[in-house]
Amino acid sequence: MNHDTIIAGPTALQADGLACVVCGADYLRVRVPHLPVGRSVTGSQVFACVGCCPDDARRVSGGVLR
Ligand SMILES: [Zn+2]
Repeated sequence: MNHDTIIAGPTALQADGLACVVCGADYLRVRVPHLPVGRSVTGSQVFACVGCCPDDARRVSGGVLR
C-alpha cells in the first residue's frame, strides 16, 4: 500500500524514477538520498529527495508511527 500513490504529470525522467518529483533533481547527475514516494501513471516507481519532503518520505518508507 505504501507505493501505490499515483503521481500525476511527472516529466519523463521523473516518471522513470530518475528525477525528484518535487524539485526535479536529476539523480543521474545529482547524488542525493531519495526515497520512493509513489508510482507514475505508467506504473514506474517515482522518487523524491529525502530533503524535499522528509515527512512524506518517512511515511512512505514506513518510518513514521503516527
Ligand atoms: Zn528533490
